[in-house]
Amino acid sequence: MESSANPPNPDQTKAPESLCRLCLSRDCHIKSISDYESQKNRPEELQKFIEEATGIQIEQNDLAKGLCASCAGMVVTVVKFRRKCQKINMEMRNLREEFLKESPADDMELLLYYLRMK
Ligand SMILES: [Zn+2]
Repeated sequence: MESSANPPNPDQTKAPESLCRLCLSRDCHIKSISDYESQKNRPEELQKFIEEATGIQIEQNDLAKGLCASCAGMVVTVVKFRRKCQKINMEMRNLREEFLKESPADDMELLLYYLRMK
């Protein structure tokens, strides 16, 4: 594989790794998705993150296999936000069920009071 220090040439700009799979950007911060995954400070499996954030599956023979720094950051942010909301949603549902067992009336004021007490 050629070093990224080499100047870009017309053939390289057509390589799947030179194009962001998510926004089609060709800016200079594009890296291959597999390069992100091999970084020690990003142990998360980026392809799974992309799928979780966007619903898009990257195929082995995809026309674009790069990811720009902007989209990479966005994917991580979206996944973290989504997971946080889902965790809170689960806690809310559990609390509501717990609350309804103790109080048969579905009273929102009481439920909010109950949440504040937790
Ligand atoms: Zn992008």
